[in-house]
Amino acid sequence: MADNKQLQQALKQFVVNDPGNELPGGEKIFDSPITGLVSVEDKIFDDFCKESVIGSMFRPPRSWLPEAATVISYFLPFSEHVRRSNYHGQLPSLEWLHSRFIGENFNHSVRRFLIKELQVMGGKSVIPALHQDYYADYESFISNWSERHIAYAAGLGSFGLSRGLITSKGIAGRFGSAITDLRLKVTPRDSDNPFKNCPFFTDSSCGACIDRCPSGAITAQGKDKSACYRYTRIEDHAREMRLKYGYDHSVCGKCQVNVPCEDCIPG
Ligand code: SF4
Ligand code: SF4
Repeated sequence: MADNKQLQQALKQFVVNDPGNELPGGEKIFDSPITGLVSVEDKIFDDFCKESVIGSMFRPPRSWLPEAATVISYFLPFSEHVRRSNYHGQLPSLEWLHSRFIGENFNHSVRRFLIKELQVMGGKSVIPALHQDYYADYESFISNWSERHIAYAAGLGSFGLSRGLITSKGIAGRFGSAITDLRLKVTPRDSDNPFKNCPFFTDSSCGACIDRCPSGAITAQGKDKSACYRYTRIEDHAREMRLKYGYDHSVCGKCQVNVPCEDCIPG
């Protein structure tokens, strides 16, 4: 079984040193990443195909790469500069907006870097998020590959009331993953409770993201994805942001900052 420490170290070095990980002002977008690995034989991928989880739209790892053995997932936590910039006001900070789009471009670079590193290790790999068959449906809000669910499978964290994944480095950031035919050492999940890191589910406390949400999309019943979508993509201010900065849509992220799970597991 191949040692993955070298791979994780290479990923960290790339994120810390690559000039693509910068806002126009030169500040870092992301801090050092964390990484998790899961075997493609893990039964959790069958669970993801159930309608009560993601549904039949989800494509398990071997449907992307028949000879797949391991899935590698990583989390890029937003830097303190980016997180703090979005504390105040109803609209996203300019730094947050840039971090979403420039940051996701950089995330694609991280994905491509990962493929190259896996090639150097002798592996064949697929990145579903960059694959021509990747598909996301914004009416039903499901996709055939969910980075957050993969991160959960790979032991990187568990879900919060706001539906983000709460990792050891918090909820604010971006995820990525690769499927490879290399058999790498996996990182077991520390619980079967998919909401273990959110105190709202464990002791009925917190709920800070409910008050942080400017659109009312988050309630004790969970997140109304349609309301969040309307707020970030359709309402007037979203259109203004889009026209002003030339991005495809606006963003928000208020539920991910100035909350107890922003950059750690609460409690
Ligand atoms: S703000 Fe509190 S309730 Fe909301 S996801 Fe984070 S930990 Fe859970
Ligand atoms: S991104 Fe904004 S609108 Fe959407 S749930 Fe979070 S706080 Fe609410």
